[in-house]
Amino acid sequence: MDKQKVLSTGRSPRHRGNAAAVLRVVGDRDEVTRQEIARHTGLSRSTVADVVTRLLDSGDLREATRQPDGRGRPAQLVRRADPEGLLLGIDLGHNHVSVALGDAAAAVLHEITVDADLDREPAATIDLTRDLALEILAREGATLADVAGAVAGLPGPMSHDGVLAVPSMLGQGKMSDPGRRLTRVLGMPVPVTTDTVLGAVGEMRSGAAVGVDDFVFVKASHGVGCALVLGGRVYRGSGGLAGEFGHTRVDDSTIRCRCGNLGCLETVAGLERVQAELPHPYTEDALTDAGAGDPVVARVVTDAGRAVGTTLAPVCNALNPALVVTGGRLGAVHAEAFGKGVREAIDRDAQPAIASALQVVPAQHGIRAERIGALLLARREAMA
Ligand SMILES: [Zn+2]
Repeated sequence: MDKQKVLSTGRSPRHRGNAAAVLRVVGDRDEVTRQEIARHTGLSRSTVADVVTRLLDSGDLREATRQPDGRGRPAQLVRRADPEGLLLGIDLGHNHVSVALGDAAAAVLHEITVDADLDREPAATIDLTRDLALEILAREGATLADVAGAVAGLPGPMSHDGVLAVPSMLGQGKMSDPGRRLTRVLGMPVPVTTDTVLGAVGEMRSGAAVGVDDFVFVKASHGVGCALVLGGRVYRGSGGLAGEFGHTRVDDSTIRCRCGNLGCLETVAGLERVQAELPHPYTEDALTDAGAGDPVVARVVTDAGRAVGTTLAPVCNALNPALVVTGGRLGAVHAEAFGKGVREAIDRDAQPAIASALQVVPAQHGIRAERIGALLLARREAMA
């Protein structure tokens, strides 16, 4: 087919529909091969090749390559053309704020993390993001006016429209709409999602889950939650709240959870409980890099991993994921001990074929996965 004919047929409704479908798949996954586009759109390989060629000619798509992990040729990919400007990725944790500055391709230029108390001082913590954003923008000689897109994540039950479904779970109940305050202090729209969604996106694009269409990202830190990626897309459920499995009752204990219930997984496998379970007067360093490899700490963390794996096993039976990616302070910094517990519990409790086909791996970006995912989503926002 000559080029003139391709361009003329491209004006038909059917071809415009094909182009929109291809752009949607590329937008959802950031970088994809032509084969992956064919699989996810249901279009034939030749149709995909034609549509991609037209979109490359028009500047809507760009070529990219992905280096394989082992030997072999780099994969030939396509990606959306980059937006103009810089990107901000914001990761708000229960006890920290991280802000990453990215270039138009969402590559990290600078990042900064400070301690903060989101649960007790949500407004002040959100206001702090502005100071941090200005600080890292200044390193590039830039200001907020140079930012093309920003996205934030929070460790709470976020609805599809970025509103906390149960604000009091995050502390004093004074901040139901963190996106509105972020939008005000930064002077630009700031969509907000759950921190686990950010982690899943970060690992899907350039971490442990590259090329994997079905996986679970589990974050075990002060809180415990997960994000589900099904068919190559983040699955958020009817109200945006899918993945709140940290609030599954697993224990007859009398420990009260932040959700108001007793015996939630989070009270058994969260960082505070692990810290409290340590038998000796360990310093706080026990649960940072300094404590990784300590055999006593490892046993307690492995127990937390077992509790998570036990709760995860029915999720695996229901969804048959290829991968469980563990993130957060316990899942990434103490990856070996935590992953061992998750592995043992899934092997014990899940259907054997599902368990044996499943890999448990740590987040390749460690505790940076969330801010890297936020930058990738900010790039999508800038192109929307
Ligand atoms: Zn709970």
